[in-house]
Amino acid sequence: MFNALVMEKDEESGLASPVIKQLSDEDLPHGEVRVAVEYSTVNYKDGLCLSPKGGGLVRNYPHVPGIDYAGTVETSSDDRYKPGDKVVLTGWRVGEAHWGGYAQKASALADWLVPLPDGLSPRQAMAVGTAGFTAMLAVMALEDHGMKPGTGPVLVTGAAGGVGSVATAILANLGYEVAAVTGRPETGDYLKSLGATTIVPRDDLNETTKRPLESETWAGCVDAVGGEMLARVLGQMKYGASVAAVGLAGGAALPATVIPFLLRGVNLLGIDSVMQPYDNRLRAWRRIATDLPMDKLDSMIQPASLKDLPQLGSEILKGQVKGRVVVDVNS
Ligand code: NDP
Repeated sequence: MFNALVMEKDEESGLASPVIKQLSDEDLPHGEVRVAVEYSTVNYKDGLCLSPKGGGLVRNYPHVPGIDYAGTVETSSDDRYKPGDKVVLTGWRVGEAHWGGYAQKASALADWLVPLPDGLSPRQAMAVGTAGFTAMLAVMALEDHGMKPGTGPVLVTGAAGGVGSVATAILANLGYEVAAVTGRPETGDYLKSLGATTIVPRDDLNETTKRPLESETWAGCVDAVGGEMLARVLGQMKYGASVAAVGLAGGAALPATVIPFLLRGVNLLGIDSVMQPYDNRLRAWRRIATDLPMDKLDSMIQPASLKDLPQLGSEILKGQVKGRVVVDVNS
C-alpha cells in the first residue's frame, strides 16, 4: 500500500476536492516503468489541477495530480531503464490527463522519463521542476537566437516565482546582468541573493503606454507574465534582441503592436515545456546540472508534504508562492 493525494469529484456539485488515500499497486494505471516517487513540486498548473474545477485541465476523476516527479525506477519493461535508476518526469500532461506525482508510486511510459544527470538528486530535480526546466529552455532559446553576456541587462518578469527565480539564478551564473521584475518589494533581497543586479517594480511595466517603441533597454527577456507587461517589454528591447514567452501569470492577451518586430527586428520566442522533444529535454537537464548553482537552488526551496498541497495550490494561483516548493511524498 502507498499514500496518494487523490482529487475526488462530488457528482452533485460537480466540484472536486483533495483526499489523502492509501492505494495499492493495482490502482496504478498501465505503464512501462514503475517509479518509487521521492519528490514532487507545485507549479502554477498544479494549482489549477488542485482547484475544484481542475482549471479546465483535468477531465477525469478520481485523479492523482502532480505534473512533475523524481524518484527511483522499481520495475521496467523498457530496455532504457532498470531498477534503481534515478529518473525525472515533467510534461506530457502527466498530472493533468495522466496519473501524476502526488503519490508514493507512479507508472509512466519510458518516453516520458529522463535519466537524472550526474550531480542532481531527485530533491534538487524537483526544486527545479517544470518551472526551472522551462526557465532553462527559455535561456537556451535566447542563446540560440544570439543573446550573449556583456550586451546589456536581461529582464526576468515574475521574478520571485518559480520560473523567474530559476531564470534569475541561471542567467546571473552565466554572467548576465539581470533585471528582476517583481510585484513583491519584500522579495528584493532574495532576488539579489540569486544574482539579480536590479529590481524593477512591477508597476513600472504594468502601466500601458501608447508608444509602441521606448528606449532600447533589454538584451533579452524571460517573460513569465504575458499580457500588458509583455506588450510593454517588446517596445523596450534592444535591436535584434529576443523575448522568451513562457507564461501568462498576468494575462493571456497580448495588447501589442507589430512595430518592435518591424523596426527593431525583435524576436518573440514561444517556449513549451510539455511536448519538448527528448534530445532537447536531455540537453536542458544537463545544462541545469552545470549552469544552476545548487546553493542558490537550495535557497529557493520551501519544503512541503502531501497534506500541504491544497493550501499551496491555492497560494500559487494567487502569486503568493516564493521560489520553489519541494514536496517530500514520503514525509
Ligand atoms: P509562480 O506563481 O511561481 O510565478 C508567477 C509569478 O508571476 C508570481 O510569483 C509573480 O511574481 C508574478 N505575477 C503573478 N501575478 C501577476 C500579475 N497579475 N501581474 C504581473 N505579475 C504577476 O508560477 P511559475 O513560475 O511556476 O509559472 C509562471 C508562468 O509560467 C505561469 O503562467 C505558468 O503557467 C507558466 N509556465 C509555462 C510553462 C510552459 O511550458 N510554457 C511551464 C511552466 C510554467 P512577483 O511576485 O515576483 O511579481
